[in-house]
Amino acid sequence: MGLTISLIKNLHDHIGQEVTVQGWLYNLRSSGKIAFLIVRDGSGLMQCIVAKNDLGEDVFSVAKNMTQETSLKITGVVKEEPRAVGGYEMLVQNFEVITPAQDYPISHKEHGVDFLMERRHLWIRSPRQMAVLRIRSEVEHALREFFYQNDFVLADAPIITPAACEGTTNLFELDYHGEKAYLSQSGQLYNEANAMALGRIYCFGPTFRAEKSKTRRHLLEFWMIEAEMAYLDMEENMKLQEDMVHYAIGRVLERCPKELAILERDVERLKRIQKPFPRISYTEAVELLKQAGEEFTWGDDFGAPHETIISSHFDAPVFVHRYPTAIKAFYMKPDPENAEVVLGADLLAPEGYGEIIGGGQRIDDLALLEQRVKEHGLPEEAFAWYLDLRRYGSVPHSGFGLGLERTVAWICGLDHIRETIPFPRMLHKMYP
Ligand code: ATP
Ligand code: MG
Repeated sequence: MGLTISLIKNLHDHIGQEVTVQGWLYNLRSSGKIAFLIVRDGSGLMQCIVAKNDLGEDVFSVAKNMTQETSLKITGVVKEEPRAVGGYEMLVQNFEVITPAQDYPISHKEHGVDFLMERRHLWIRSPRQMAVLRIRSEVEHALREFFYQNDFVLADAPIITPAACEGTTNLFELDYHGEKAYLSQSGQLYNEANAMALGRIYCFGPTFRAEKSKTRRHLLEFWMIEAEMAYLDMEENMKLQEDMVHYAIGRVLERCPKELAILERDVERLKRIQKPFPRISYTEAVELLKQAGEEFTWGDDFGAPHETIISSHFDAPVFVHRYPTAIKAFYMKPDPENAEVVLGADLLAPEGYGEIIGGGQRIDDLALLEQRVKEHGLPEEAFAWYLDLRRYGSVPHSGFGLGLERTVAWICGLDHIRETIPFPRMLHKMYP
């Protein structure tokens, strides 16, 4: 075996050299004298040529009878080959079968999505799925880096919580040694405490919501990156979000061109996105709906079709701000100029992907927050610590939460959120 082990994605560093690649057989076709192997290693696909004349009858026969997903190490000299998948080709000098695969159920023909979802543990080996998961990783990394570069402290919020942030309808309940507890549906309240301690913080973790309807954009377990900033108002909050989203898009365009090509993403639409993102008020958004012939009453919440109509007016993500107070969470700060609306803003992605961020400025006044807790029928004991934050040096502060999977679905141009996470948790579905 060659001394140098390379990832397929790094083959460009090894042109003309002998390297070993460790992977799995993705595809194979052979004629009488030559077998073309497509090998995958998680970082990419590579074409390998096994010639009977070079390796002899016996070895050739092993190669051409290998089954899909057989694991193998393969050694040879790398050359550029623009016509080959991945752009490189290896002339095989030697290969070692690690474990032959039995009949692999996912062939190269089209399969239905139910069939694939049942075999999600294998489906993730296919090039499209690997591309999505690599982009997901890139987005996560870019977001963390953005916060790091902007002096945020990573402060993790608890997963097990005694009370609900925003009402109890979507909660997964659990038994905490005889006490009722819930899986977190947002880290926000804890984020506010952490921001009063550390200034600018974020958390990034799984979020659980017992959603009761099946949609293309709701999972029951998803990942949310939530930031909270002391001394930040609603305008500055939106500015930070657009910087962050723009940064993440730039990173994916720069680092994942191959993945975007596999997904046949129209990258021009991503490249066109400029800062600042457009901002419209909820009331202006309602006007857009009416112009489009929708019957919509001021005060109602937008559904997915409404969000699609609103965002279709813009090439970039659009902030919709100042929602009616009645449809937003108890902690949202009322607009000083009109208490009917709050200083909250959601960011709607273009191309019909809907809300990717929910955020806003929080109530910093103790009396008003106490009143809201009562009005919303929340258990006051459970929120005593949260009220303390307004008792000991309260300051204006804002924050937001970005849903990772929705953002990835948009960047990848996918029809459904289920492909953006290795093992999606959906209504009545948790296998595998
Ligand atoms: P929606 O109205 O679309 O259900 P939401 O208003 O409940 O969303 P927030 O509570 O503001 O959402 O959560 C912040 C972000 O988390 C959303 O903008 C979205 O990107 C993401 N998100 C919310 N619920 C889900 C879910 N069930 N699955 C995946 N992502 C979600
Ligand atoms: Mg929201």
